[in-house]
Amino acid sequence: MNMEGGCSCRAIRYKLTDSPLIVHACHCRDCQRITGSAFVINLWIERSAVEVSGKPKSFMLKGGSGANHEVFFCPSCGVYVWSVYHGAPGDCLFVRAGTLDRPESVTPDAHIFTRSKLPWLELPAGARAFKEFYKFDDVWSPQNRERLRKSAKH
Ligand SMILES: [Zn+2]
Ligand SMILES: [Zn+2]
Repeated sequence: MNMEGGCSCRAIRYKLTDSPLIVHACHCRDCQRITGSAFVINLWIERSAVEVSGKPKSFMLKGGSGANHEVFFCPSCGVYVWSVYHGAPGDCLFVRAGTLDRPESVTPDAHIFTRSKLPWLELPAGARAFKEFYKFDDVWSPQNRERLRKSAKH
């Protein structure tokens, strides 16, 4: 699986050295606005598993929980490459699947904040969907919960 990607002008390139902990399709209003689209696809992955070349800039949004949501983008072409949710556990990035060289290599494990899902969008049959968020124990494997816990230590 080719898990490399980057922005449109190639000033930012990245490589994922591990599989994502989970893949979210987020239908919240912030993600709709940032992507200019119906939802974002985020790869939740340890910061240590993302090799980056180039220096993205960032700006800060207030997330729904009140915690900061830091959005990183290429200073040359403006493409949003990942987010850091300061309220989320672990030291992780939320990499935009649309910036992968092969975005078809991932499928959402969970659709979140579907309360603001656009009404014309039908989720695939059997998709795991949550009006807001979920309980980790209900969705994450024990292995990935352990990976997340470890990421917070350094
Ligand atoms: Zn760029
Ligand atoms: Zn969102």
